[in-house]
Amino acid sequence: MLMDYTDEEILLRDSVGNFADKVLRERVRPFVVKHAFPTDLVREFAALGFMGTAYDPDFDGAGLGTRGAAIVAESLACVEPGFAAIFLCNSAPMTVLARYGSDELKREWLSKLCRGDTLASFGVTEPSGGSDVANIRMRAVEDGDGFVLTGSKIFSTNAGTPLHGLSTIVAVTDPDMGPKGLSTFVVPVGTPGFQVGRPSKKIGWRIADSVELFLDQCRVPRRFLIGQRGDGLRQILTTLSIGRILVAATALGLARKAIGLARAYGATRSIGGKPIFSNQGLTFPLADMLTKMHAAELMIRNAATLSDAERPFRTETSMAKLFASELASEAADAAVQVHGGYGVFEDFEVSGLIGEARVLRLVEGTSEVQRLIIARELAA
Ligand SMILES: Cc1cc2nc3c(=O)[nH]c(=O)nc-3n(C[C@H](O)[C@H](O)[C@H](O)COP(=O)(O)OP(=O)(O)OC[C@H]3O[C@@H](n4cnc5c(N)ncnc54)[C@H](O)[C@@H]3O)c2cc1C
Repeated sequence: MLMDYTDEEILLRDSVGNFADKVLRERVRPFVVKHAFPTDLVREFAALGFMGTAYDPDFDGAGLGTRGAAIVAESLACVEPGFAAIFLCNSAPMTVLARYGSDELKREWLSKLCRGDTLASFGVTEPSGGSDVANIRMRAVEDGDGFVLTGSKIFSTNAGTPLHGLSTIVAVTDPDMGPKGLSTFVVPVGTPGFQVGRPSKKIGWRIADSVELFLDQCRVPRRFLIGQRGDGLRQILTTLSIGRILVAATALGLARKAIGLARAYGATRSIGGKPIFSNQGLTFPLADMLTKMHAAELMIRNAATLSDAERPFRTETSMAKLFASELASEAADAAVQVHGGYGVFEDFEVSGLIGEARVLRLVEGTSEVQRLIIARELAA
């Protein structure tokens, strides 16, 4: 297991870190406070080409795979986890297109997404329940030279924002085929019958909009079917697995931010004439966090390396996602504790990290779903 960062990866980390430190840190806070999507910041970030980090240079990507994308997510989350969410939710539809789309579809949509001309959303979860991804109700009925989609999706992140250009939507094409009856489609914004709901305030991913999608007799041409008809479930499962690595990387970045804030506060706070960090009761939990952050980094890089090598990676990915997302919550909690009472006031950035971390244990499969996947090893 080789964990070294390549020269290209170091350059990537420095470049995204530079954007995060110089641009994001300076300007993102007002959007977090207002729970508002930072359109101009996303546009500036996307124009630098970072959205295409993982993907094939033939389609305007940087060719740095999931390892590269994980570096981007972590570097952004070190400053603003919600911004990493915008990146990782854009990556899911890009992954479906990159892995399964025809060259024609990739030229039409993936290149645009890599160049940062537009944003995409991923439409899998439905109001009837997200943990059972095979149980999808959205219908896609073949009609002439296309398909007509009807149904709804929920929590679709990036949809409805000013930069949103398309959704990739999973729908039932063959109801008699069970899980083999699902297929994935590109549905561009502006397709008649395609509407999005209004964003609601959330305790985490505050600057990312997650909304409902409504498709009413929405017609798309046959060429907007991604890959093979009936291949939807396999596509979702692989895409979700890759997405889990990016959620884990976001969680690691968030933990780094939390511990950074705790260190900064602890370095200045004295009680009874003694610096608070002279109490081991306060520093030992932070030492545990540093140890777990190191473990999370190794798990994430291992899962991403397996993914890029096209080797089996689902169990390792679920382990990394489970471990890192639970770590993020622990780190946020420990950092609030270091701040004492100040830690729960919104003026202190650390207070917001509890909610930001909480989301990561739900998205791309809850912690329970990750445990279900890992527990399959027991039966192997
Ligand atoms: C902020 C946010 C952004 C999101 N963005 C997107 C997006 O862009 N695109 C998208 O498609 N989806 C998105 N999601 C959906 C997300 O992936 C789902 O919320 C998640 O998969 C859980 O589905 P659910 O909310 O329907 O919960 P449910 O499936 O209803 O689960 C409820 C509870 O039951 C537990 N549970 C369910 N089944 C089992 C079981 N067999 N064993 C043990 N426990 C079980 C779950 O772990 C959970 O605790 C987003 C969600 C959030 C919160």
